[in-house]
Amino acid sequence: MNGLMMQQPLLISSLLVHAERHHGDQEVVSRRVEGDIHRCTFREMAARSRRMAKAIAALGVQPGQRVATLAWNGYRHMELYYAVSGSGAVLHTLNPRLHPDQVVYIADHAEDQVLFFDLTFLPLIEAIAGRVKTIKTFVAMTDRAHMPATSKIENLLCFEDLLAAQDDHFDWPVFDENLASSLCYTSGTTGNPKGVLYSHRSTVLHTFAIALPDALNCSARDVILPVVPMFHVNAWGLPYAACMTGAKLVFPGPGLDGKSLYELFETERVTMSAGVPTVWQGLLAYVEANDLKFSTMRRTVIGGSACPPAMMLAFEERYNVQVLHAWGMTEMSPVGTAAVIKGKHVGLPQAQRLAVQSTQGRAVYGVDMKIVGQDDESGAELPWDGKASGELLVRGPWIISTYFKSEGGDPLVPDAHGQGWFPTGDVATIDADGFMHITDRSKDVIKSGGEWIGSIDLENIAMAHPKVMMAACIAAAHAKWDERPLLIVVKKAGAELTRDELLAFFEGRIAKWWTPDDVVFVDAIPLGATGKMLKNRLREQYGKHLLAQG
Ligand code: AMP
Repeated sequence: MNGLMMQQPLLISSLLVHAERHHGDQEVVSRRVEGDIHRCTFREMAARSRRMAKAIAALGVQPGQRVATLAWNGYRHMELYYAVSGSGAVLHTLNPRLHPDQVVYIADHAEDQVLFFDLTFLPLIEAIAGRVKTIKTFVAMTDRAHMPATSKIENLLCFEDLLAAQDDHFDWPVFDENLASSLCYTSGTTGNPKGVLYSHRSTVLHTFAIALPDALNCSARDVILPVVPMFHVNAWGLPYAACMTGAKLVFPGPGLDGKSLYELFETERVTMSAGVPTVWQGLLAYVEANDLKFSTMRRTVIGGSACPPAMMLAFEERYNVQVLHAWGMTEMSPVGTAAVIKGKHVGLPQAQRLAVQSTQGRAVYGVDMKIVGQDDESGAELPWDGKASGELLVRGPWIISTYFKSEGGDPLVPDAHGQGWFPTGDVATIDADGFMHITDRSKDVIKSGGEWIGSIDLENIAMAHPKVMMAACIAAAHAKWDERPLLIVVKKAGAELTRDELLAFFEGRIAKWWTPDDVVFVDAIPLGATGKMLKNRLREQYGKHLLAQG
């Protein structure tokens, strides 16, 4: 017997319709590439999105076709989020930090038809315009007065002109919630990037889940500044969650340095933010150097790579900002877990509470996870005892089933019941309360004399040293032990620090045999397009460092 409730598909356009109707006067504030601050309301944004939906159709884009963006976080980008997906086309957010060759590869692979870009990326567009195969139209996300003078791009249109040519009488089409809504390519440290194709259903369900109090905790009383780019897994879903909950949004545009971010936090009375650890490093350094405090910011989501506990402590103790450590992947829309304490942890001494909050957290409803033995062919599940560590597998309605165009074959691993699980490539423990702790990426694990050493733990210790700005730990080839940990370290500006001083810092903090064999001081650690340390690059450069020492 069927239930007797309405059949209403879960569509992305419904989020904007809700925001317009119930939070119409809520603000969206953006730092623009044109150099000023722009303010609008959800009501205005909804009307402009409808006009843009008509403009896209007028450009000849058919439902299901891909429309690409190369853009910072800003209101025009958000209007495209809704205009493109809402009208049944697929929004493809390209990552401008990739090499132009990779951008060309991805745009061709996705068969993008139109590309919208922020003026910052004009040189990149000029470099790729003659090379991409399917893009017929380029649109500069600006007004007529700021249109660039360029002869290298054929068919260059102006965003505001496109809008001006349309009115906002438009009804969002209703279609199957399983249709594709947006496309993101994984950062892929090896091989070609692969496309992850989200659906309206997966996106709306993910939005419900991340807005929950024990996930990212978004509400109509919040002012959210997503530092995490809208070109990296839809800014972790915040442009959708803000519409669902009625939160004010503040977009930093290209201003991701400590000073620009701090200014916006204060002037717009931001209450929550989200980003990768490397961004917070810059912000903390600025706030520290200028002896500043946050007047309204009370929590920030940190994820994308492990948040060093020292950073969590600094935010909490010095700035009264709670860090919410979260974990996920492009393949997971992206949020899977959040490290929010349970009732039993309330009142714990700070160090014990922070130990819980430093894990990658517990699964949000909708995500199921398990760990299996790394060298065990049977795939048997390991116990949730906080000790056994194994490959982390996940499943759920916003987790990938296969890559775009089936690239790389079927990624899922079936269990004994034939159910498919997605292997995350992360190595983790899970404790009895369900808190998952990542000890490594499988390919970053250091295997010393047959025993595993977790590189993240070693990085976290190094990062806790007051003179260390950034630390990466890699497996370096070793004549006797096969591999041994090697630390690559960037010192804080002006700090004096020796190898021995830093290695002494590990004493008592870790089993002696885990202590890195050596330290290499460098000026900078290479970061990937999404702000993660490129350990494969470091391994190429320093992987034989210990052998060379003899
Ligand atoms: P991406 O798809 O680029 O977002 O990368 C996903 C990968 O980033 C995960 O599989 C993890 O290896 C890593 N990652 C994301 N969040 C965290 C976190 N909080 N702690 C440690 N690693 C993380």
